[in-house]
Amino acid sequence: MERKVAWTTYSEEDFTKLDRIAADYKAFLDNGKTERECVREAVKKAEAKGYRELACAIEKGEKLNPGDCVYVNWMGKAIMMFKLGRQPIEKGINIVGAHIDSPRMDLKQNPLYEDTGIAYLDTHYYGGIKKYQWVTLPLALHGVVAKKDGTVVDVVVGEDPADPVVGISDLLIHLSADKMGKKASVVIEGEELNVIIGSKPVKDEEAKEPVKDAMLAILKDKYGIEEEDFLSAEIEVVPAGPARDFGLDRSMILGYGHDDRVCAYAQIDAILSIDEIPEKTICCILADKEEIGSVGATGMTGKYFENAVAELINLTGDYCDLKLRRALTASRMLSCDVSAGYDPNFAGVFERKNSAYLGKGVCFNKYTGSRGKGGSNDANAEYLGALRKLMDDANVNFQTAELGKVDQGGGGTIAYICAVYGMEVIDSGVAVLSMHAPWEIISKADLYEAVKAYRAFMLNA
Ligand code: MN
Ligand code: MN
Repeated sequence: MERKVAWTTYSEEDFTKLDRIAADYKAFLDNGKTERECVREAVKKAEAKGYRELACAIEKGEKLNPGDCVYVNWMGKAIMMFKLGRQPIEKGINIVGAHIDSPRMDLKQNPLYEDTGIAYLDTHYYGGIKKYQWVTLPLALHGVVAKKDGTVVDVVVGEDPADPVVGISDLLIHLSADKMGKKASVVIEGEELNVIIGSKPVKDEEAKEPVKDAMLAILKDKYGIEEEDFLSAEIEVVPAGPARDFGLDRSMILGYGHDDRVCAYAQIDAILSIDEIPEKTICCILADKEEIGSVGATGMTGKYFENAVAELINLTGDYCDLKLRRALTASRMLSCDVSAGYDPNFAGVFERKNSAYLGKGVCFNKYTGSRGKGGSNDANAEYLGALRKLMDDANVNFQTAELGKVDQGGGGTIAYICAVYGMEVIDSGVAVLSMHAPWEIISKADLYEAVKAYRAFMLNA
């Protein structure tokens, strides 16, 4: 069944709202190129809307009431926002969840070296990337250096137009006879992702590594960090520069990290637009580590969400384990993550009837997974039925899709992790072209529909 192109359904009012959201989203992408930066942006937006840290309420032993808004900043890399509803929490929470980590290169713990008069930072890539896409691009460094004295230094180089950028060289075509015959997966190898950061030596004839020494002097001078401080640093190498309008009609956005910051942004905008006291408690989760399997203390398999719900039950009445289990089981969730946009350039890997199209609205994926739906959260038909009504009632343009042709590949999200509690979960997100490339493309209309969909879901699911 063909779905409508969202653009053709819009009023002047829609276009005004869409433009506001698209501009605000681009700023969010520019200010949030790492999970840590995204958390900071989310905290700013939440606090401006009156959200308070849950930890403060816990500390004071405050009771929370319907309409109260709290957030949990989890290790600076994941965040949850809650707005308490009229009904008790054990009646279930309407949850929207996305991830804010994106594919990139991380600096290794001993990254700095000099070779033949050039200083480099060695990297280890994070998430699924086509390594050959990351060479010859202007790159920026974003992250933190945690020093032994407990101070944490923020690093951002390459974003201000006055900043220098860094990057990875590629072999000239003239000498690529061997390279050009290689498989794409190895034409650039992991150990070739070495970032050039300098070439000017210190003036010291005794120096064994004069360019590296010069780099260390700059690091000391600008950031007060020593070489050993890299041992406790998290510095991410990402594409330099801002998100841009894409297309002569400005209908799309070219940006780094649409996966999954487009859904993260839509969730934040949706939850913070809700001024009324919702019927059920609503929640927005922005998780880390999805791109490497949702592992670790900040990934969705961590217990922080469950623990936060337990704290909320405690602050709104008497805590008991059964209430927590009931709350989680009775919850409903949109696992919000991007979907592969149908690309006419590579039509062969898509199945046209079941693809996500740019501009046809927010996309529901009943299942993801690969091969025989392996690793998928296969949402219940009854749940999807209820969501169809909910979306239609809220005039949301939506489409349904799976990730490419059967047996062509596949992917996963955080859906299956929350489904463990027995709650209803479905994947829902925005179609992306060039997913996981340094610069990805989305349609502004799909972003707009995602905001509408997530708002409607939180209020009415
Ligand atoms: Mn994703
Ligand atoms: Mn991804």
